[in-house]
Amino acid sequence: MAGILRSILEAIGHTPLVELQRLTGPEDARVLVKVEGLNVGGSIKTRTALNMIEVAEAQGLIGPGSVIIEPTSGNQGIGLALVCCLKRYRCIIVMPDSVSIERLSLMKLYGAEIEIIPDHDNIGECMERCMARALALRDSISGGYVPQQFENPSNPAVHRDKTAVEILEQLGEVQVDAFCSGFGTGGTLSGIGGTLRGRFPAMQVVVVEPENAAILAGGAIGSHLQMGIGDGIIPANLNTGLINEMMIVSDDEALDIARQLALQEGLPAGISSGSNVAGALRLARRLGSGKTVLTVLPDSYDRYYSTPLFTGL
Ligand code: PMP
Repeated sequence: MAGILRSILEAIGHTPLVELQRLTGPEDARVLVKVEGLNVGGSIKTRTALNMIEVAEAQGLIGPGSVIIEPTSGNQGIGLALVCCLKRYRCIIVMPDSVSIERLSLMKLYGAEIEIIPDHDNIGECMERCMARALALRDSISGGYVPQQFENPSNPAVHRDKTAVEILEQLGEVQVDAFCSGFGTGGTLSGIGGTLRGRFPAMQVVVVEPENAAILAGGAIGSHLQMGIGDGIIPANLNTGLINEMMIVSDDEALDIARQLALQEGLPAGISSGSNVAGALRLARRLGSGKTVLTVLPDSYDRYYSTPLFTGL
């Protein structure tokens, strides 16, 4: 990024694509990771926050005096809080109490108002209550607008048109044989998966789901540590038609791989990054050398100091 930017919003995106060197062996496919923890705002969700707000502005749905209200399990709230403080919108975030304190603190730092909804050991029901509360707030606040990341087409669109296009440029001549990702809203999986499938028609799209929230695989929905994925709902923004396979990842495996990403590869990885790479490593073993698996690291370890990711070090 050359020259002087008018705001940090202009620096969103342009994250590195890195090949794992030590977590894969010589018999395995190569694994490439898009390091979104290095994005502005510390996660992949700043991209969707900016796009949902700018598309709503362009459509005349919001403008000066609007109040942005969103239910989120975390990073979308940070992204929206950041974009809203720069664009001078009041921002209200409704989120489950199972979300890490780091997320809550960052949203507050960016000036958002927060409403917490108790999880009661069922993330799916909690997200439904967060959504209902956000809609009720919208109806009671003048200028209220809910971007609705779970169904807003501007969420997958930014991954289809920007994140995936960055990836294709970074790949050069390299072909991708499998793309692996968890889903919260499904924006990442549908957007990146859709564009890459267009370029590589035989590419497998593999979903990872937390063991305690494997909704596609038909499992029971409880609480888990893989924040940002496994919200216990099948969102409208998840293009299930792309999906070839589901994989289930336990919290312990996600934590272990997230730690290994730091220790072995020096990469900033949150817990769902561990989930994604757990799936990618299984695929790399199965596909074998000469093939390429791609995944994303949606956020960084620095959003998890208070969680078991840092226990016992
Ligand atoms: N991991 C983390 C840490 C997230 O915050 C999110 C966003 N919910 C995801 C993964 C999943 O991304 P998406 O909403 O695009 O499915």
